[in-house]
Amino acid sequence: MNCEHARQALLDSLDSPIPAELDEAMRNHVGNCEACRGFAERQRALDVRLTAAAPVVSLSSEFRSSLQAELSDHPIPIPSWPESLPDIAHLAGCAFAILLLLVALPQYSAAILAAGMGFTLVTYFLQAVVRSSLT
Ligand SMILES: [Zn+2]
Repeated sequence: MNCEHARQALLDSLDSPIPAELDEAMRNHVGNCEACRGFAERQRALDVRLTAAAPVVSLSSEFRSSLQAELSDHPIPIPSWPESLPDIAHLAGCAFAILLLLVALPQYSAAILAAGMGFTLVTYFLQAVVRSSLT
């Protein structure tokens, strides 16, 4: 076990028990490594001070039930979108793009209309397939 692994095992052991073989390897390393021994002493002292300064807070069982009752009395409203909103947005976007192209390139109006209608229909179909796969 190297210093990095020993220090990580030491930090893990402060939160919860670690496997016995890892604990033994960590203790062997810390016993033979002065740098890690100093690290361990500082971490344990810090852990003791933090535990004393910030005691563990425990909530009563009544708190959880009263919180659930409070939440059920005041449900959070979920905005509802019209079912047709994606269709409207898609068609409006395509129509706007076609109009822009017709204004910018009037000499290609026939091709723009044909390509725009084709694009709109194909993408509308793809959108419908994706939407139906999501529901
Ligand atoms: Zn070490």
